[in-house]
Amino acid sequence: MKKPVYLDYAATTPVDPVVADEMCKYLTLDGVFGNPASRTHAYGWQAEAAVEGARRQVANLIHADPREIVWTSGATESDNLAIKGAVAGRDNPHIVTSLIEHKAVLDTCKWLERQGVSVTWLAPERDGRILPGQVESALRDNTVLVSLMMVNNELGCQTDIAAIGAMLRERGVLFHVDAAQAAGKTEVDATLAKVDLLSLSAHKVYGPKGIGALYVRRSPDVRIESQIHGGGHERGMRSGTLPTHQIVGMGKAFELAIEHLEQECEMLESMRSRFLAGVNNLDGVTLNGSDQYRVPGIVNLSFAGVDAESLMLGLRNLAVSSGSACASATIEPSFVLRGIGLEDEQAHRALRFSFGRFSTGEEIDYAATQIVDVVTRLRSVR
Ligand SMILES: *Cc1c(COP(=O)(O)O)cnc(C)c1O
Repeated sequence: MKKPVYLDYAATTPVDPVVADEMCKYLTLDGVFGNPASRTHAYGWQAEAAVEGARRQVANLIHADPREIVWTSGATESDNLAIKGAVAGRDNPHIVTSLIEHKAVLDTCKWLERQGVSVTWLAPERDGRILPGQVESALRDNTVLVSLMMVNNELGCQTDIAAIGAMLRERGVLFHVDAAQAAGKTEVDATLAKVDLLSLSAHKVYGPKGIGALYVRRSPDVRIESQIHGGGHERGMRSGTLPTHQIVGMGKAFELAIEHLEQECEMLESMRSRFLAGVNNLDGVTLNGSDQYRVPGIVNLSFAGVDAESLMLGLRNLAVSSGSACASATIEPSFVLRGIGLEDEQAHRALRFSFGRFSTGEEIDYAATQIVDVVTRLRSVR
């Protein structure tokens, strides 16, 4: 069976072959397999050197100091560590977040809410952005943390984190940014944006799954409580033997991302235009999210009169995603689309198409043609 065209780069990316080759050198007896925490022999020293090299590569992408990078198992863990770690031990804490965050932030904040933490849930603009003024109005005397994503995974829209960061630094409130969908897709500068904590994932940037990082600002040090104890690795913030091959893979992937960023953005901009031009023959297509403040590789569209489930069934040759979740017997529309104020009906008609490094013009044209055909057919039998 021929595999469908992959248009779900926002869910995960394939590992770049250059990254996979690099990772293989850190597994076997003839490679660097030692425990990076082994201080007594060369196996450990070599592994440690590899880990520190990767730490520099990851820090470089976000303009940070390598000592500000803490390895985790992915952005989900980074989000948990940042938010729970910042709130732990604080007296009567209040946090501010939004309705359209990734579940890793939403569910963490909901859990904290059940533990007695107060949470303000900001509703974004219709285009998915959170504005600095909104955040400022939500601040209280006891606000310890604001957690917002830079690029939304369903919509691709981009919030101006530098404007929010500057305001929060002045107010003395910690700022956590989930940048899992921003890294490698747009310029991310943790220092310039005055961010205190920033979550990263390797597998959204052509690296392996199961590895990520949390940027924790230094000088002055941001204090967060460890959530995983056992040995005090990573400056006491995250214990556990470091997976050298995964870390080297993330480092290589981030190095490639720096190299490719400019040219890849241009390539994806032209694919986006090509894709939108391809579906332009159809009436009743709405772009969800922002056409101005966004990354190019994520396109979320609603098709009037066609529900996303039937459309996806028709588009068997395309691997795409709808943000809806099957809760028991009913299909719940995406909480992100509800969060930007879409009616259930329009939210039920939305699909996300995301492309990336290995997408081709041919695939984009094929996808657009398929969409036009299937939408036209579904509308005619209505
Ligand atoms: C994918 C993603 C995550 C989760 O990252 P994992 O590394 O898979 O745990 C968190 N936040 C955003 C915005 C994401 O896109």
